[in-house]
Amino acid sequence: MTILRLAIPSPLRRLFDYHPPAGIETDQLTVGVRVRVPFGRRELIGILVELPSESDFDSSKLKSATEILDSTPPLPLHLLKLARWAASYYQHPEGDALQQALPVLLRKGHPCEYQHEFLWKASEEASLSQLKANASRQKELLQLLIEHPSGISTDAIKAEGGQISALSILEEKGLAESFQRQHKQSSQEALHEAGLTLNAEQKSCLEQVNQSPGFAIHLLEGITGSGKTEVYLQAIEKVLLEGKQALLLVPEIGLTPQTVSRFRQRFNMPVVALHSNMSDRQRLDAWLQAREGVARIIIGTRSAIFTPLHKPGIIIIDEEHDPSFKQQDGFRYSARDLAVMRARDEKTPILLGSATPSLETLHNAIEGRYHWSKLTQRAGNSAPPEFRLLDIRQEKLQDGLSGLLINEIKEHLESGTQVLIFLNRRGFAPTLTCHDCGWIADCTRCDAHMTLHQRPPHLHCHHCDKQSGIPHHCPECNSDQLQPVGVGTERSEQALQQLFPKFPVIRVDRDSTQRKNAMHEIMTQVHTGEPCILVGTQMLAKGHHFPKVTLVAIINADAGLFSADFRGMERTAQLILQVAGRAGRADHPGKVWMQTYHADHPTLQTLIEHGYSAFAQEELHHRKISQLPPFSHYALLRAETPHKGRAEAFLGALRQQLEEDMLLPHDVSWIGPFPSPMEKRAGMHRAQLMIYAQNRKSLHQLLANLCWYLEQNREARKVRWSIDVDPTDTF
Ligand code: ADP
Ligand code: ZN
Ligand code: ZN
Repeated sequence: MTILRLAIPSPLRRLFDYHPPAGIETDQLTVGVRVRVPFGRRELIGILVELPSESDFDSSKLKSATEILDSTPPLPLHLLKLARWAASYYQHPEGDALQQALPVLLRKGHPCEYQHEFLWKASEEASLSQLKANASRQKELLQLLIEHPSGISTDAIKAEGGQISALSILEEKGLAESFQRQHKQSSQEALHEAGLTLNAEQKSCLEQVNQSPGFAIHLLEGITGSGKTEVYLQAIEKVLLEGKQALLLVPEIGLTPQTVSRFRQRFNMPVVALHSNMSDRQRLDAWLQAREGVARIIIGTRSAIFTPLHKPGIIIIDEEHDPSFKQQDGFRYSARDLAVMRARDEKTPILLGSATPSLETLHNAIEGRYHWSKLTQRAGNSAPPEFRLLDIRQEKLQDGLSGLLINEIKEHLESGTQVLIFLNRRGFAPTLTCHDCGWIADCTRCDAHMTLHQRPPHLHCHHCDKQSGIPHHCPECNSDQLQPVGVGTERSEQALQQLFPKFPVIRVDRDSTQRKNAMHEIMTQVHTGEPCILVGTQMLAKGHHFPKVTLVAIINADAGLFSADFRGMERTAQLILQVAGRAGRADHPGKVWMQTYHADHPTLQTLIEHGYSAFAQEELHHRKISQLPPFSHYALLRAETPHKGRAEAFLGALRQQLEEDMLLPHDVSWIGPFPSPMEKRAGMHRAQLMIYAQNRKSLHQLLANLCWYLEQNREARKVRWSIDVDPTDTF
């Protein structure tokens, strides 16, 4: 007897046993295939993970599966194993984790078959004279085929205005024929354009990567504009010449059409993108092309880490410190950390690139676990920017801008260059207040203020998305003296436009770029090189090159300096340097001005006077003293309920219970429970318990026990709980 043991998408942390469907022989079953099964009153699709010969349950009570969907598993075995490992490491139900490793259409049961691309061409003897004079459509189509002797796809025919329906008529007449596209494998043709001549630092990094034939981890630490991408391109070139594929992961905000087109421009080989803005069908196609080996370069965001490759050659993680590589809900995996595991399984090199590496990665490099290359010079001729901390303690600000800064902006614009103003708050103002009684527009569902927006006018909670109209009178005292507090991008845009009416002011934030093509239009305008002011959020900080920007102004460099999160300082430093990196990229030297109330803050001083490495060293020192990651491992147990105080009480009781019932591994400690930094969010009251250990094994042993315990626990059903392993955000 054979039992199908399946991972099924359900919140239960267990596998489910079924009998094979009637008429299916054991030798037709392979681990990894999708299986359709009855589940409660529904039908679900599970993944076959084991084929035991008997069940732990009464086998006469087991149901039979309905259908086996695949003859070969969609995910190759080693990726299935990786996803299963990740489910157990991140304490997530296996069925759901495995689903997330597949494209949406495969989760829904769509066939997992690569559609070969067919091309059409005219037959050898075909000529227009063989068609009747009045068959104009057929003639046009045949003409099109004759103009494309190496073949043209149906999509391209449509794009050229050709009639697809006429193809079969031409084929019947022996005038046209179709054939399968042959993908270029020959090595001479890998490049469209030659690579740049590398400088000494780039060369030594590339040699380092190329030297290691099998698995090796490389950190490429290079300041913005130092030519990291050029190193990626040339490392990929070698891989392509060996007939292999490259997987490049980039941050969510970084996957712009410019990124993809830079790779398409260089390589004469299929490049596919995988990101959330594609349709499910497009994603499946790209995924299948990668699995089939047709796509040679795969550029994707976090979830692309599970994309199967026919011949894996290298994995590259750009901006490896970026928080978007860690999923923040549900299956809370880190794509960067999984990428390292994957590269080890596939015996390929992995390259982690960043101007501001995460302290975890730096620590690994310092300890000698990673090869470490540095690019310290900007490529080409551009000089590094000059930093200045602008003490605004005594200053009267005009819409958030100091007089000195306004003068500086003016100078740059008048000398014909561009200015970038960075402000990490969208909307008009962070909130609205009553001048008479001090009332503040707070969100009723969160411990947060409502943001005032003017285009269109409304109040908006950026945490739960609640929206409401702007009151004309104070709800407390009925006064009409309601005033915006603080500055957001909309207000800054308005103020700058009034100060500099002759120059365009372009706002770049989530609101201003929602329209399709909006970002493209903005970039086109900026690239004309005409003087202008760019005002925007983090969206401006990543991936884009602004060669004509000579002044970057950070309106509030202090945000994050005193954060409750121990990573606050690291994040602030990374963001500042990332924004600063936009300045003076081409032959225009750049200036970075930072407004601050803490100009003598030692960390800010270290950062701008001695750079990121010096900052990181100090920060690592503090982490070591406090035994914080990377010097310890930790997880957060979070709980939330609609009732105030209940989440904290639940965690408190749990902790007590566990200490009485369970033998805590001696090196595991707890801190908390304490209320989350934002205690109420979207109507839920939240608390957390921090669990940490010197030793990963002890931590994971405890977490596994904890999950088991919570699943049995009645009280736990009254709260919503989750475990976040290696959390990067305290919520
Ligand atoms: P990063 O990825 O580190 O920000 P890029 O690879 O985008 O840097 O390089 C920044 C700029 O310098 C680009 O315009 C790139 O074409 C140019 N560049 C990179 N390497 C070289 C080189 N070896 N010689 C000349 N220009 C280079
Ligand atoms: Zn009032
Ligand atoms: Zn809210």
